[in-house]
Order: sequence, then C-alpha cells, then structure tokens
Amino acid sequence: MAKPLVDILDTDSIPWIEIQTKDPSAHTIGKKILCQDGKSNARTQILSLKKGLRTQLQEAHLCSEESFTISGKIRHTSWFHPGRDGQEIITGTAFYSYRTPGHLHGPWEALEDTIILEIHTEPFTVKVNPYVWECGTCHDKVLWELNRCGNCETPKSVVQDKFRPYPDAESYEYSTG
Ligand SMILES: [Zn+2]
Repeated sequence: MAKPLVDILDTDSIPWIEIQTKDPSAHTIGKKILCQDGKSNARTQILSLKKGLRTQLQEAHLCSEESFTISGKIRHTSWFHPGRDGQEIITGTAFYSYRTPGHLHGPWEALEDTIILEIHTEPFTVKVNPYVWECGTCHDKVLWELNRCGNCETPKSVVQDKFRPYPDAESYEYSTG
C-alpha cells in the first residue's frame, strides 16, 4: 500500500491533535497528519512545538525521520561527527534533516515556538536513552536492535560494545502515533 492521493489540502482547515510528552515542562506537542498510509503508518505531518518544550535524554527510533523547519528555533545535541559528540547545534527556519533508522540524537529544546514538517516511513516509536553501538565506519551511534548501521550499512560486529548514553537514567519508549 502507498500513501493515498492528497491533491490539494488547506492545512489550516485541520485541527491540531495534542500529543502528551515526557517533557518536564508538561508541554504537549501539536500534530496535524497531512497524509498517511493506513497499512504501514508511513506518514507526513506537521508538528507544533511550544517554546520551552525539551527532552532530557537522548533518543532514537527504528524508522527514518525526515524534517524541515518551517519556522522557529531548536537547540539540538549532535552525536554523529567524530570529535563533535555532544556539540550543540541551533536550527531554524529552512533547516532540513534526514535521520537514518536507529540514529541517536538529542536531547533538544525548542527555543521559540516552532513548526516542523516531518515525514516518517513507519510507525513512530521513540526509544529514550536506548542501548546503542558505535559504527566503526561512520561513527554514528545506532540502536542496538539494528544489525546494520542505518547510515552506511556497516554490519554490527559481534564484539561491538553495547552502551547507553546515560547509564544511571531510566530507559523507556513511547509512541507519538
Ligand atoms: Zn555507519
């Protein structure tokens, strides 16, 4: 199955759906689903993040996440580039990202009210503070459940170290579906 035809859609005509988060400020995330494959749950949606919404731990998901910032500003923590682990990056209007399956990212915080267009390939379950392995080729931190790096497809080695970013913090998952 594929996403159904959406010829023209005025997204202002769709109400926001509120999603509960684990955000310590108790903000919700507003969501508008623009297009969805009923079988796979592949989805295109708009998210509304209130200023101050933030996460406390790193996260990853099994499906890819493609996003484009329509307006606003977010502070991210990046774990991808060698030697830049933990670097903070501010993204704003017109910033784009394609996070491959299993890619570790965050925490993040909305520095302004922010609107994002987001595209998922599968049901979206967020794994918070998950176990990961580090790819020997591209150095991405990848969810332990994946046997190949989602970025460069290097196989997980049998001797690969399993580690969790915050060993003393709770690990859990939640769905934004
Ligand atoms: Zn890799």
